[in-house]
Amino acid sequence: MENPCIICVAITGSLPRKADNSAVPITIAEQVESTHAAFEAGATIAHCHVRNEDETPSSDPEKFAALKEGLEKHCPGMIVQLSTGGRSGAGQTRGGMLPLRPDMASLSVGSNNFPTRVYENPPDLVDWLAGEMRSHGVKPEIEAFDLSHILKAKEMWDKGQIVDRPYVQFVMGVKNAMPADREVFNYYIQTVHRLFGADAPWCAAGIGPNQIVLNDWAVSSGGHARTGLEDNVRLDKTRLAPSNATLVQRVVALCEKYERPVATWRQARAILGLKPVSA
Ligand SMILES: [Zn+2]
Repeated sequence: MENPCIICVAITGSLPRKADNSAVPITIAEQVESTHAAFEAGATIAHCHVRNEDETPSSDPEKFAALKEGLEKHCPGMIVQLSTGGRSGAGQTRGGMLPLRPDMASLSVGSNNFPTRVYENPPDLVDWLAGEMRSHGVKPEIEAFDLSHILKAKEMWDKGQIVDRPYVQFVMGVKNAMPADREVFNYYIQTVHRLFGADAPWCAAGIGPNQIVLNDWAVSSGGHARTGLEDNVRLDKTRLAPSNATLVQRVVALCEKYERPVATWRQARAILGLKPVSA
C-alpha cells in the first residue's frame, strides 16, 4: 500500500548562525522565502524558531505570529509547527506562542544532555506545555531524545494530557544524547508500534552528518523525515548546503529511491489528523 512520506523542514533552529552558513534564514522575510522554496521542493511541515536581529534565539510571540502569518499566506496548506524547545527561552516563556494556535508544536517530555549543557524539561513544565497545547488545540510532536521519552508520551496519552495518538520524532546524533544507532532506531519503531498501534506514524531527525543517515533509515522504514538547516548546515564534509530546499531535495531523492511518494500537504494533514486547512 502507498505510504506517502511527510518531509518536515527545520528552517532555522536556535544555534546555526550566518557565519556557519549564510543560507540560514534569520529575519522573518528570509524565513518565509526559505520555507517557500522548501515547500515547493516537497516539504509539508515547517518546524520554526524565531531569532532576534543579532541572531540570538527568541521566544517572542509577536515574532512567531509574524512568521506564522507569512507562512500561511505564502505557503498555503503547509503545516506550521512552532518550537517550544529549551534553547529559545526558559520556563513558561517557551510556550508563550501557543495561544497563536499553530497546527503543531514540538514538545519535549523529558530531560537529557546536550553538547555543552543539560536540556532541562522538568515534569511541571512538561505538564504545563502539554496543557497549553491541549487547551489551544495544538497537536504536539513528541521529541524523543531517549527511549524513556516515548514511554512518557504513552503515559501522557493514557492520562489524557495528550489528546491524539502521540506523533513521535526520534532525534539521534545530538552530542552527549542518543547517538545514531540502528539497533536502537529499530527498537524505537517497535516501541511506537507496540504502544500506539502498528499503523502509528512516526518521524526521525539526525543531527549534522547523521541527518542524511536518519533520512535514509526513516524513508526506507516507512517513517517520515525531517531535514533542514537547523539540524545540519552541510551537504558533505567539503560543501555547505546552499538552502533548506536543497536539503529537502535530498529527502525527495530518497523517496524516489525507496519508491515512496512525497506527501502533499493534504495527505500530510490527513496522516497527522490535522484540519484540512489552517484556521
Ligand atoms: Zn527546533
